[in-house]
Amino acid sequence: MKSHSISRRKFIRNSAVAALGFPFVSSLGSVVRASDSQPRKLGFALVGLGGLSNGQLAPALQLTKYCRLAAIVTGTPSKIPVWKDRYNIPDNNVYNYDTMEQMADNPDIDVVYVVTPNALHAEHTIKAAKAGKHVFSEKPMEVSVEKCEQMIAAVKQASRKLSVGYRCQYDPNHIECRRLAQEKVFGELQTIEASFSRNITANEWRVKKALAGGGPLMDVGIYALQTCRFISGLEPLEVSAKFDPVTDPVKFSEVEEGVAWEMSFPGGLKTKCSTSYARSDARGFKVTAEKGTFGLDPAYNYNSSRGTRSDGQAINLPAVNQFATEMDDFAQCILNNRPSKVPGEEGLRDVRIMMAIYESARTEKPVKLVAL
Ligand code: NAD
Repeated sequence: MKSHSISRRKFIRNSAVAALGFPFVSSLGSVVRASDSQPRKLGFALVGLGGLSNGQLAPALQLTKYCRLAAIVTGTPSKIPVWKDRYNIPDNNVYNYDTMEQMADNPDIDVVYVVTPNALHAEHTIKAAKAGKHVFSEKPMEVSVEKCEQMIAAVKQASRKLSVGYRCQYDPNHIECRRLAQEKVFGELQTIEASFSRNITANEWRVKKALAGGGPLMDVGIYALQTCRFISGLEPLEVSAKFDPVTDPVKFSEVEEGVAWEMSFPGGLKTKCSTSYARSDARGFKVTAEKGTFGLDPAYNYNSSRGTRSDGQAINLPAVNQFATEMDDFAQCILNNRPSKVPGEEGLRDVRIMMAIYESARTEKPVKLVAL
């Protein structure tokens, strides 16, 4: 699937390294610095051409300032001609999951964006890191703490950067709610209630434990968990959780149908969260502080969050394309050699807490957490 014209490219890359110390090699082999007036667009390879890549990420890449869709990785050959035509992708930049490591010889690819089922993120991240690429992984980062740690180690060993797709951290209304919380505009935080639920069909990988790692908690409940941590800027000390009763034992034979959980934070903040695959009525959060309340509903749509404050003001900043914004931010981190605000360690923290939520729901006992 992949042909090589390596020696010339390697020569250009090595010469560039020698000449500039910290260079970037463009798709044409030319070298530019990040500070050049025309920013170089980093080449992204999308791994997994499913719903998110097709519906959101590829279109969003067309809106970015510092990124471009350079390559695809797919296990479905029938998708290749469609993607090649639509996004002008050359033959040399088409891979499958078994040829990913050959990206090492392709300087047209800077960043590998992993958009496969949750339990494949580590495998694809590690292959990308071994090929010397930066990695952007979709959420949840993986399905276990150990696999997240392996991802972090692999990218670190390759001296590359790793970021996790927490698009809401780039949403202006989420950022505004974080400001209201952290500047204590309504006083000390007391409670946060956050929920995200959605209906799901029976035959997708999301209800298979081996691929999803868990049910709605891993998929959409993670947004409610992220909200509590992102808005408060605090790490939970203890979780206590309860699975919802199962109404469809066939569909939910491997993963939970729903789960509700509470978290205690330093300073007395308590949060109540829930998630379910059996309803689609919850998609927002509400923060209660000493002198008022604020929150977003809807909070987790791709491009249209909005909310209210108890003093009557709206929270309705103009929407951004969250995917384009997060990819541009990661590209700038790479171009300017600065850390991502959403590094692998941030994805790991959520996975660690989700594992504690499952443990608490299983044992019906609170689980203490050690902040990392
Ligand atoms: P999807 O099912 O639409 O696509 C998954 C892709 O992975 C498909 O192209 C499929 O062919 C491929 N794949 C490779 N190996 C596979 C295997 N063994 N089994 C099944 N599929 C396999 O899923 P999606 O909605 O695109 O989700 C992909 C990832 O993106 C997930 O981790 C999900 O949590 C995440 N996601 C994030 C957001 C967000 O808003 N950030 C939204 C949707 C999905």
